[in-house]
Amino acid sequence: MTNRLDSLIHELKRNDLDSIFVTSKANVYYLSGYYTDPHERVVAVYVSQSDDPVLIVPAMEVNDAKDAGWNYDMIGYHDHENVWELFLNHLNKSKLPESMGLEHDHFTLERYESLKKILSTTHLKNATNILSNMRVIKSKQEYTLLKQAASLADFGVETGVNAIKEGISELDIIATIEYELKKQGVQEMSFSTMVLSGGKTASPHGTPDQTKIQKGDMVLFDLGVVFEGYCSDITRTVAYHSISDEQQQVYETVLKAEQKAIEACKVGVPVGKLDQIARDHIGEASYGEYFTHRIGHGLGIDVHEYPSMHGENELPLQEGMCFTIEPGIYVPNVGGVRIEDMIFMTDKGAESLTTYPKELQIIK
Ligand code: MN
Ligand code: MN
Repeated sequence: MTNRLDSLIHELKRNDLDSIFVTSKANVYYLSGYYTDPHERVVAVYVSQSDDPVLIVPAMEVNDAKDAGWNYDMIGYHDHENVWELFLNHLNKSKLPESMGLEHDHFTLERYESLKKILSTTHLKNATNILSNMRVIKSKQEYTLLKQAASLADFGVETGVNAIKEGISELDIIATIEYELKKQGVQEMSFSTMVLSGGKTASPHGTPDQTKIQKGDMVLFDLGVVFEGYCSDITRTVAYHSISDEQQQVYETVLKAEQKAIEACKVGVPVGKLDQIARDHIGEASYGEYFTHRIGHGLGIDVHEYPSMHGENELPLQEGMCFTIEPGIYVPNVGGVRIEDMIFMTDKGAESLTTYPKELQIIK
């Protein structure tokens, strides 16, 4: 973790910030190596240009954080104590920072007011982009974890496809997928597993329930796991028993759009180009109005993270980025198809970390 803390201090200098107070679960893990879900309690990494870093955790987690490899100072607080006063006592050991970065997309107003109360003269600034920019390029070690998370997602889809039979419900299939993944050592999914069938596939964010799979249904799987703090995300759509001509046309259009976008992944190409290429292909097939979301999103410690892979993003692709490519077409009364892979950028282009087959499968 020390390298990351060194890089962060370098970034603080570059951004003319004295210090940064990091509280999101993902950034705390990224900087400290300690992965925890504190619920409403405060967990924070404080890094400044002038002093050693400090980790703030509930007292009951001090030993866990040490075990995770945190070697610097810690402030462990009990539930009856005021964590902000303890933090101020710590800061008072040296000069109070003139400026402090916060994660504006995460830090609550309640916490902001508490911090403002103890640090009335410190300039509080948005520093979300500093950490987003650091996290967007993954290290070798992060690549390995993402790849392992991706192969568990492949296994999850394979398990789900194998579970399809007439009369089984969406939730039954989800139970089977997650049971088998738990047996592989997966502690948590990266989001609520989605299995949608029939007309429900026409909603990109539909809710699985006890709907039973019937012959002629499309069945859409969207799932991912967390592996040692890193997320995966895959979508596959299959047909059960048979497929209509229009469903097949939708399927082939999405598949081609996905392949074209993946082939376009080269270092230096703007992110937005990938969305445009897929959207053009889908538009030419006259399904443009049914592709209702961006082509994808960055992923890593968070399942959705920087960058947003939308059509107007001019950020150039760089080696070490990891993101999804996931075009979809959702036609009411016909159904929906989405195909999603996790892409890792190398100097040669895209490496797909998810590898489950995506040619149309008709499950008999
Ligand atoms: Mn996704
Ligand atoms: Mn997904």
